[in-house]
Amino acid sequence: MAGHEVKTVVVFCSDFRQNQQVIAHCKEAYGEFDTLSFPGACLPFLAEESSQVTGQWLTTLRQLHGNEKVVVIDHLDCGAYKVTYADELAGAPVQHEDHLHRKNFVALQKKFNEDPTLRLLKLEFALYNIPDQRLEVIKL
Ligand SMILES: [Zn+2]
Repeated sequence: MAGHEVKTVVVFCSDFRQNQQVIAHCKEAYGEFDTLSFPGACLPFLAEESSQVTGQWLTTLRQLHGNEKVVVIDHLDCGAYKVTYADELAGAPVQHEDHLHRKNFVALQKKFNEDPTLRLLKLEFALYNIPDQRLEVIKL
């Protein structure tokens, strides 16, 4: 342990339309925190080609800063979701994207539960709505 610790890691989408607002919300909620930012926030933790690497970054941060909690913040109207689920989201009502985020949160919790290292981190989930600037905590 490096002697400086922080309890929380926030994982959020790279999208410029929301990342500064999300950080501002998190400063209010958590004070200090580590960050990881990827297009689609939780998507690279679930994708086969990137899940091991992204999980390893969390493990590294935990080793460095003793993190206990990961807050995963997806947002609605996410371009990475539109690319990843192009066929499924084409012409679908907006509620369908909302549904996909919640479904992925469940899948991510399951993935963490099954991983001997990642299961040590408590997961929390939230969805950010850009027009409303509202962060909704999602309880699974
Ligand atoms: Zn996004």
